[in-house]
Amino acid sequence: MNDDQLLRYSRHILLPQIGIEGQEKLLSASALVVGAGGLGSPAALYLASAGVGRLTICDGDDVDLTNLQRQIVHRMHSLGQKKAESARATLAEINPEVIVTALPERVDEKRLEALIAPVDVVLDASDNFATRHAINRVCVRFGKPLVSGAAVRFDGQVAVFDMSASGSPCYSCLFPEHGEAEDVPCAVMGVFAPLTGIVGAIQAAEALKLVSGAGETLAGRLLLLDGLTMQVRTIRIAKDPGCTVCSQRIVEPDAPAIR
Ligand SMILES: [Zn+2]
Repeated sequence: MNDDQLLRYSRHILLPQIGIEGQEKLLSASALVVGAGGLGSPAALYLASAGVGRLTICDGDDVDLTNLQRQIVHRMHSLGQKKAESARATLAEINPEVIVTALPERVDEKRLEALIAPVDVVLDASDNFATRHAINRVCVRFGKPLVSGAAVRFDGQVAVFDMSASGSPCYSCLFPEHGEAEDVPCAVMGVFAPLTGIVGAIQAAEALKLVSGAGETLAGRLLLLDGLTMQVRTIRIAKDPGCTVCSQRIVEPDAPAIR
């Protein structure tokens, strides 16, 4: 690190759980943020300000006036621009050292394979189950840690699925692919502005911990936040032995190697 970097990241370096070594891990790390909306905005702001070296941000939508109530990475002058481009512009004003790749596209599973394979951590800040399940399938396939967040009305959720650890549950163990959970869009249900900030900031915190090795992550746990009472609780997520996504990962010791 040069002198400017030692100053910029000095408050991290002071933390014994991060220190120079942890900060250097952050600087050489890469993260994928899927979604540059209510959750992706604070998550990307913190990942960039904290010095995660390379960020890829994908979102196919344009910035709209209804977004500005909570999607804090966007600005008035970005209205009508692609969210991914708008986010990149804001992050560059805060930390020009971070290499941000803006992908103004809606990603499918094939595309996600190419995007997830090279990164260290994936943040799901998307707003629909089809994308969430596609991200999960690819993270399971490549053994990548996934930080999942959701916020609607006053209800927030965060979970970490550390697919690099054997025996970890996956997103689909919690919400089966053909289960009863349905999309509840904010455009219909509404969402409390700072709730998205809280959830997105927790996602950033978990990603930074996964990369730097600080503390204990939410791996295998679901954090539930009620924004009306500000009650927070965490529950264990059990691995579903019948999960259609991750159960096939268990390879018996005597089983012939696949491929
Ligand atoms: Zn699973």
